[in-house]
Amino acid sequence: MPKELRWTDDPARAELRAIYAEVDALLAPYSCEGSTECCDFAITGREPMPTTLELVEVLHATKAIGGLNKKRLPLASDSRRCAFLSGDNRCRIYASRPFGCRTYFCHRVVGPGKLPRAEIQALSRRVTALAERTFPRDPMPRPLSRSLDQDLREVILRSR
Ligand code: SF4
Repeated sequence: MPKELRWTDDPARAELRAIYAEVDALLAPYSCEGSTECCDFAITGREPMPTTLELVEVLHATKAIGGLNKKRLPLASDSRRCAFLSGDNRCRIYASRPFGCRTYFCHRVVGPGKLPRAEIQALSRRVTALAERTFPRDPMPRPLSRSLDQDLREVILRSR
């Protein structure tokens, strides 16, 4: 991607969204009570690790919601509650949330059986491969909260 980000027309975005659609369909039979505790990284002890590719999608979605108001929405590094979680406990970038958010379930998950971990890992590898092809200089996953502390656009422009 040259200087200006034209992410909506980028074939990599279409491919990423196709993988997201596959993983969402795979996990559609599974559900939870929606406590949103999984969006509080102090509770889970872990957090999503989006690739640079996924951070572009996060950046795009962040713009669509008018940006992150850092005064109103405390960064995860301060509170450990994801900065994208709204006051009424909804993900403000739900359609663009990273792969890790789509595939994380706590022990209260309800479904037809064990989670299909092998299929999830295969899809995760496809995201990684796509990130490596799209952002060869720096495709690596990084903690979502730390990414939000940086200028996402800078990270992305440096990586391609
Ligand atoms: S991006 Fe959305 S789904 Fe993922 S941790 Fe943050 S609020 Fe939760």
